[in-house]
Parts: sequence; structure tokens; C-alpha cells
Amino acid sequence: SSYHKVLEENRLLYNQVQDLKGAIRVYCRVRPFLPGQSNGHSTVDYIGENGDMMIVNPLKHGKDARRVFSFNKVFGTSVTQEQIYADTQPLIRSVLDGFNVCIFAYGQTGSGKTYTMSGPDLTTEETWGVNYRALRDLFHISKERAGSIKYEVFVQMIEIYNEQVRDLLVSDGSNRRYPLSSSNIRNNSQLNGINVPDAFLVPVTCTQDVLDLMRTGQKNRAVGATALNERSSRSHSVLTVHVRGRELVSNSILRGCLHLVDLAGSERVDKSEAVGERLKEAQHINRSLSALGDVISALAQKSPHIPYRNSKLTQVLQDSLGGHAKTLMFVHINPELNAIGETISTLKFAERVSSIELGAAQSNK
Ligand code: ADP
Repeated sequence: SSYHKVLEENRLLYNQVQDLKGAIRVYCRVRPFLPGQSNGHSTVDYIGENGDMMIVNPLKHGKDARRVFSFNKVFGTSVTQEQIYADTQPLIRSVLDGFNVCIFAYGQTGSGKTYTMSGPDLTTEETWGVNYRALRDLFHISKERAGSIKYEVFVQMIEIYNEQVRDLLVSDGSNRRYPLSSSNIRNNSQLNGINVPDAFLVPVTCTQDVLDLMRTGQKNRAVGATALNERSSRSHSVLTVHVRGRELVSNSILRGCLHLVDLAGSERVDKSEAVGERLKEAQHINRSLSALGDVISALAQKSPHIPYRNSKLTQVLQDSLGGHAKTLMFVHINPELNAIGETISTLKFAERVSSIELGAAQSNK
């Protein structure tokens, strides 16, 4: 029967997800040189097939000039959006089986975080990032399973700026509002403990709904910012997809949740130069990114205490980090020479949060 087919499919997917080494995976993506940037002098010297990469630091000499980093996967400059998504898809599918999943984009401003998550251009599906592909898949798979499980999908979009959470789907000024009727879910206790009680949860049924919402969210994100790019690189944006499925035979309910997080730029701001608002922003970003790193590395090391309470970001994501949740972090590398300092600190951060760190370090010795 179709129900058994779904069960079997779930079992296969579950195994696939279980196979992923550890609960935390790290993928590194190197963005290409952009038009007008000096070509040929990439700091990424070598990318191996097993998730190894070698970085060349022209500022150092001898054995300090080269360093090998190891992750679950490393994607070079010619890897397409489609290929990136192919290695993300098993996690997305597991959301429909009731898993909680967090996907992060980490890296300095301009390293390709938004490119990976959203893509450069919404009008061509070919360049769509993980966000849209994930939602397209969720709708597609839920239709395939419609004979045995009835799914509902809800979306939330928030921004965390200076440790303040802002709902991007509450429109101020425009006509679009999404009040939820009592039949819709907005109650914390009902759905995976949503930690942002005041953020609208909007029901969506197709990718077009999602595209519309993203536009609204992006418009709202711009409100109050001097320049969109400036603001968006200094805030974390979190797109959350909640899935509720009712199994038609048994009437049992399953819930899954997917967080797609475009993090604030990880670059260090020169303390002697930043003042006022800029310094405050920088301090909030540094603190929240290191809080995230602490939480993920505590989880990777199976530490008994996970310090969720040290930042808004980790509080908001608490229920989807750890436990049976799956975490994937895309770390982004800008290959230009003048980015070498940030590149190395990005890779060190990634190494710290990676659950394969010990194994990789040992096998290198
Ligand atoms: P971030 O979000 O980290 O600040 P962006 O995603 O905005 O960085 O990327 C910076 C620039 O580089 C953009 O013009 C983007 O289109 C381009 N870019 C990033 N990654 C890629 C890639 N893999 N292929 C082609 N262009 C890219």
C-alpha cells in the first residue's frame, strides 16, 4: 500500500540521515573571483576529494605558509547551486519525517552566504539557493505522500540585530499582513516549542507563496536600515519552516522544523576604528557568533552543559540544535589574497564546530 511505501521510504531516508557522521556537518564553499577581481592568486591551493583543502598564506613562510583543513565536504568555485543542494537534500527530506534541522551560512561579508542560501536572482530557478530549493522539495515530497500523510507547511522569518529579535513578516506600512486565525498554529506548546512567540507563522502551500513572503521579508528588513547590504550583513536572518503531518490511517501527528540561517558577517571590526553604533553592532555579532560556536562545539563533544542562553540566536534555535536535530554549517571562503586573515579565522571556527575535528587532526599526524 502507499502507506507502507512511505514507511519504507522513511526508513531508507532515516538510515541515510543516520549515516551522516555525527550530528554536525560542515561544508566549505569557496566562491569564485568576481569580475574585476585579480584572478589567479587564490589562497585556496588545493581541494581534495575527501573534504580536505589546503590554504596558502602568502604572509607566512616555511611550513606555516600552508595549512590543511578537513571538513565533511569542500566545494570549489565551479560547483553549481544544484550540486550544493544535492548534498543538502537528505536533511531537507528528513524534516518531513519529523526531524529538526538547522542549516547555517557562515563567513565574512562578501564570501557568498546569501548566494548559497537565497541565490543571486530569484527570477531564474537555476540560480536558486538552498532556501527555495528546500521549500520546493518540501512541497513536492508532501504531494507525493498525500495519499498517506497530509502535510501543512508554515513559514516564519525573523532578523536578529543587536540581540533584538524582529519579525520580518509583520509588515509595517505595506498592505500585506498575515493575521492567523485560531485554526492556525501560533501557540508555543503546539509546535516544536517555537521560541519566537510574537513572530507570525504564515501558512504556505506552494513555492510562489514562499517567494512572495521572502520579498515581503526582504522589504521589511530594509526598513530602518541606511543601506540594505550594510544592515543585512550585520544581522542574522532566520527563515523557519514548520511542517506538521497527519498520518491518515492512524491519525498520528508528526512535526518537523527547518531553520535556514544567514548569519551576520563574521569579519572582525578593528576596535580602534569602530565607534558608536558600529562598535556596538560588531560586539553583538562577535558575541553571538562565538556563542553559536560554543553551543555547536559543546554538542559535537557531547558536553553535559550546552550554553544556549548566551545569545538570542542560540536561544531561538535551542530546540533545533542538539538532541535528535541535525545541523549543517556552510562556511564560505573568499579566495582573494587580502581576505587571508578572515579566511583562516573562518576555517578555524569551522574546525572548532566540526565534529570530525579530532579524527581529522589525528589522521593528519
Ligand atoms: P555575503 O552574503 O556573504 O555577504 P554574497 O552572497 O552577497 O556574500 O556574495 C558576494 C558577491 O559574490 C555577490 O555578488 C554574489 O553574487 C557573488 N557570489 C558569491 N558566491 C558566488 C558563487 N558561488 N558563484 C558566483 N558568484 C558568487
